[in-house]
Amino acid sequence: MKRILWFRRDLRVKDNKILSFDGEVLPIFIFDKNILQHLDKEDKRVSFIYFYVMKLKRDLQKLGLDLKIFYDTPQNVFERLLQEYDFDEVIASGDYDTYAKQRDREISHKLHFRYLNETYLFKPNEVLKKDGTPYLVFTPFFKEVLKQLPLKELSCTKIGDMKLLDAEYDKQVSLEEMGFVKKDVAILSPYEKLEKLKQKLPLYKTERDFMMRDATSHLSVDLRFGTVGVREIFRELCNMKESLEFIRELVFREFYGYLLFHFPSLETHNFKYTFNGVYDQEKYEKFIKAKTGVPIVDAGLRELLETGYMHNRVRMIVASFFTKDLLLPWQFGEAFFAKHLLDYDKASNVLSWQWSAGTGVDPQPYFRVFNPYLQSKKFDKEGLYIKKYMPELKELPSKYLHDEAYLLSKDIPNYPKPMVVHKEAVKKAVESFKN
Ligand SMILES: Cc1cc2nc3c(=O)[nH]c(=O)nc-3n(C[C@H](O)[C@H](O)[C@H](O)COP(=O)(O)OP(=O)(O)OC[C@H]3O[C@@H](n4cnc5c(N)ncnc54)[C@H](O)[C@@H]3O)c2cc1C
Repeated sequence: MKRILWFRRDLRVKDNKILSFDGEVLPIFIFDKNILQHLDKEDKRVSFIYFYVMKLKRDLQKLGLDLKIFYDTPQNVFERLLQEYDFDEVIASGDYDTYAKQRDREISHKLHFRYLNETYLFKPNEVLKKDGTPYLVFTPFFKEVLKQLPLKELSCTKIGDMKLLDAEYDKQVSLEEMGFVKKDVAILSPYEKLEKLKQKLPLYKTERDFMMRDATSHLSVDLRFGTVGVREIFRELCNMKESLEFIRELVFREFYGYLLFHFPSLETHNFKYTFNGVYDQEKYEKFIKAKTGVPIVDAGLRELLETGYMHNRVRMIVASFFTKDLLLPWQFGEAFFAKHLLDYDKASNVLSWQWSAGTGVDPQPYFRVFNPYLQSKKFDKEGLYIKKYMPELKELPSKYLHDEAYLLSKDIPNYPKPMVVHKEAVKKAVESFKN
C-alpha cells in the first residue's frame, strides 16, 4: 500500500494514529492558500503553526521519515501528487466545519479517504441517546461520556512499520515567502503544561475563574493544533481523583464538536429564537478597539489583542456584554474572536458564542445576563488583571473599577465613560428576546 499521511491539526508524532500504518508513506503538510489568503500578515497562529510544522519534520526525521511541505491549495497539491505517484489512499483526521468537510469531500473524489478520529476522543455517533438521536443537553451527554470512558481504549498508539516514499523533501517555504511576518508567540511544551496541571488540579474548580491565579491548563492551543493528543490528556488524568472538573471542561470541547457535526447550520444560524441582535457599526467599532468604558471588558479585549488568549471567565463576560448589553449579533463577535484567538476552534467558539447569546443548543437562558461589574468585583477584586492590561487605569483605586455609577459620572483621564448603562441595556435585550 502507498499512502499519503496528511497532517492537519495533529502536529505531533507521539500517540498519533496517522503513524500507526505499515507500508510506503508520504507524510505531508499543506499551508493552505484558501485559508491563509484571508489572514492578517501578522497573524500569530501562522508563526505558531510554522514552528510546530518544522518540529514535526524534525521529529519525523528521527523516525526515519520526513515531511513534505506545500504552500498551495489542497486541490492543486493532490492533483500534482496523483499525476506523479500511484497512491492507494490518504489518511487524515480533522474538523467538522463547512470548509473542512467540503475540502475533504473534494479530495475524497480523487483518492480513497481514510478519516481518523484524532481531534476528539469520541466519534460523533458513539454517544447517542437511547433513541439514537444526539444529546441536546450537556449534563446527560457528560454522564454518558463518564459511563463510556472506562471502556475507551486510551493506550498509546504504536508506530507502524513504514517506509518513506522516495520524493523531494528538502524544499521548504519560509514564513516570509508566504507573505507572513514572524511573530513572537509563547511556545510552551504541552507536556510541561500537563505536568503543571496535575499540581493545579486540587484547586482547579475553585480557582479557575479568578483571572490572575493561573489555575487553568493553557492547553487549548495544543488541543487546537494537536501538539498533544486528546487521548493522552484523558489517559494521564482520568484516573486522578481530582480531575473530574477538568475532564468536564474537556467534555465540553467534545460536546461542542459533536453538536457542530450533528447540526452544521449552527456555524452561522441560531438553534433557538429568530431574534439575533441589531448590528450597529459605532458600537462594534468601540468594542473592537477595547473602548467600551467597562474595565473588565476592555481588559479582556486587550489581553486578546496583545497575547492571542483570553481567560475563560472573561470570554464569558465579554460575549455576554457583546450580545446582551450591546445587543450585537453573535456572529460578529465570533468572527472577531476567530481573527485573534490563538486557540481558535470553530466548534468551541461558535457554540460558546451561541451559549452566551442564548441562541444555541443548551444555551444560557436569554434572561440570564452577566453583570460585568459584579463579575470583576468577584473574580478580580484587587483589579490586578484589569490593571495589567489597562495602564491608564493604574492609578484608579480598585473599588472604582467595579463601580458603574462612579465610572458613568466621573471623568477618568484617557478612558471613556461606559457606552451603555448595564441595567437599561439588559432590560432592552431581555424584552427583544422575549418578543
Ligand atoms: C465566547 C467564548 C469563545 C470561546 N472560544 C474558544 C475557542 O475558539 N477555542 C477554544 O479552545 N476554546 C474556546 N472557548 C472555551 C474556553 O474559554 C477556552 O477553551 C479556555 O479558556 C482555554 O484555556 P485553558 O486551556 O487554560 O482552559 P482549561 O480551563 O485548562 O480547560 C481545559 C480544556 O478544556 C477545553 N475547554 C475549557 N472550557 C471550555 C469551554 N467552555 N468550551 C469548550 N471547551 C472548553 C479546552 O480545550 C481547554 O483547553 C471559548 C469560550 C467562550 C466563552
